[in-house]
Amino acid sequence: MPRPKLALHGGTPVITEPFRRYNSFGPEETEAARSVVESGVLSQFLGAWHDDFYGGPKVQAFETAWAETFGVKHAVTFNSWTSGLVAAVGALDIAPGDEVIVSPWTMTASAAAILHWNAIPVFADIDPTTFCLDPAAVEAAITPFTRAIMAVDIFGQSADMTRLRAIADDKGLKLISDTAQSPLAQQQGRYAGTLADIGGFSLNYHKHIHTGEGGVAVTDDDSLAERMRLIRNHAEAVVEGMGVKNISNMVGHNFRLGEIESAIGLEQLKKLPALVLSRQVAANRLHEGLRGLAGLVPPRVAEGNTHAYYTYAMTLQPELMGVPRELLHRALLSEGVQGVGTGYQNLHLLPLYQKKIAFGPNGFPWTSDISQRTVDYSPGTCPVAEELHRDAFMSIGMCSYTFTDDAVDQTIEAFRKVWNNLDDLR
Ligand SMILES: *Cc1c(COP(=O)(O)O)cnc(C)c1O
Repeated sequence: MPRPKLALHGGTPVITEPFRRYNSFGPEETEAARSVVESGVLSQFLGAWHDDFYGGPKVQAFETAWAETFGVKHAVTFNSWTSGLVAAVGALDIAPGDEVIVSPWTMTASAAAILHWNAIPVFADIDPTTFCLDPAAVEAAITPFTRAIMAVDIFGQSADMTRLRAIADDKGLKLISDTAQSPLAQQQGRYAGTLADIGGFSLNYHKHIHTGEGGVAVTDDDSLAERMRLIRNHAEAVVEGMGVKNISNMVGHNFRLGEIESAIGLEQLKKLPALVLSRQVAANRLHEGLRGLAGLVPPRVAEGNTHAYYTYAMTLQPELMGVPRELLHRALLSEGVQGVGTGYQNLHLLPLYQKKIAFGPNGFPWTSDISQRTVDYSPGTCPVAEELHRDAFMSIGMCSYTFTDDAVDQTIEAFRKVWNNLDDLR
């Protein structure tokens, strides 16, 4: 029997129906939103030293529930995790010119939050199997000006927080984790996000659960929690009334989450374990089905970790296969595979960092006298991350579609068809 021809070469695609868009909402969220709207109180925050400084009943109930779920002392909500990251960096007393080491494989907000305080992001390379910060690269990037490490738990699993914590403690550095993509992922039985001085999560529409926009920071430290609450809500107006002694970085914003979002968040949080589990089930089915495809390395879950599978992150060995990644990608897209992409952004290569243009046109903060040395963002400074982006990385966005058993099986069939026809692509 002749092999079925690749869709790229005029054959019939394996997948002809669009997969269902991922949707974590049900009637519970509608009811939660409706009851807040009916109450007429859509936000109860007051930017003054008053009982309502900490927000209304839904905000506070959501924070309590989040802290209980993740086993932390404090959860502080924000109107986005971008806002939460800004508050986290500020709360840690990062000062202008301080260096913060961060992964280049993350969403722009991780590094922008550092720049927000006129501190300097320093990018350290990633581990080629987990795509999270490589602790050895972090150690090599430490200078006398380093004040903190921001680990990013990318794609669904935790960075190596045991080693990063040891490095941070050894050098007297603060540790932040950006766990936007990895809620309920575990490391050594503890939740990602709770293994740093401050960690946090995104409730943006694209994540496992969402409130439209929103974010939550977590910490066990009373003072850091309070400093984040201050930055969230017009700090400078209340420090006097509250008797705050350390007023550095107490430049406040309005980073407050609303009552509707918080009420929805309470419902979403209840669903989070099952939603993460459904991704793990789909990913395990993919592992089974893609097993044995030459040159395709499935996601590696580091020892001691569980994976929340925001992204099914694969590595290709194009040389072994004799087919360049972009051609494989086109062949997969032609077969109707959905949510598949290649590469991942390297933050240090963005124009902002290449040109060192952030605040105004003259290179502030890098060229100003708060900057204590010349930081190098040249191509080649994060070779693992750059090469993965260029040649080898391929992923399936697990939060873009509902990956039912049937959708997973169709995806597997399309991959196997392409791999059976590699000769036609060579
Ligand atoms: C989504 C995301 C953010 C930003 O979260 P928002 O809530 O969209 O502001 C930050 N870091 C990472 C790794 C993310 O994936």
